[in-house]
Amino acid sequence: MKAEGIVYKVIPYKETSSIVYLYTKFGHISVKSIGSKNKKNQSFLFDNVGNIVSFLITDSEFPTLIEYNLIKDQYDLTKDISMLKAFGIIIKIISYISNDLSHNRIYSFILKTLDDIRINPKKALSIFLIKMLYNFGVNPNLKTCVLCESNLITSFSIPLGGALCDIHKNEENNDLLKIWQEYYYEKKDINLYSDYDFDLLLNNIIEYYNIHTNIKLKV
Ligand SMILES: [Zn+2]
Repeated sequence: MKAEGIVYKVIPYKETSSIVYLYTKFGHISVKSIGSKNKKNQSFLFDNVGNIVSFLITDSEFPTLIEYNLIKDQYDLTKDISMLKAFGIIIKIISYISNDLSHNRIYSFILKTLDDIRINPKKALSIFLIKMLYNFGVNPNLKTCVLCESNLITSFSIPLGGALCDIHKNEENNDLLKIWQEYYYEKKDINLYSDYDFDLLLNNIIEYYNIHTNIKLKV
């Protein structure tokens, strides 16, 4: 079998080998990379978290790597702390994607996000996390008040997981609701999305994940 994927986890296997977990447009796959810890072996680029590789593997239930090509590494991201943090969170999120989803679409979105974190890491991460909620079975109610179903909504509540009307509003501001609506529903180039205080927004999104999903993220 031949495929392309992003390496998101590598664990040691026996003395000199590794098990490499990749996410592809067909979903998750784990591959034995034999002898990868041997310095003479050239598969070390296959065993590197973040690398995007094309690979040929045996047709077995627990396949072995036959050969691979490096398509792209993420080395440049390690030079910037915000990019590195965003990259780390994206890699963590990948491991939670369940196997019964439409992976073609998600895989493309991950590749696009990895490009976008080079443009604006906090913004790209915010867009990614808000849009990915849907794939974890969480649909923030951003159209009607979560308490009375009024569509005259003015604010956003993290603990309640959605919008609030003027009567039920909390102290959080209108801008946050607008950003969540824009980032959740709209599809456009990263530069066309509104800017915001991304440290504040990311705190907000991470709190949302910690309350409403089983993915525990740290700020
Ligand atoms: Zn209400």
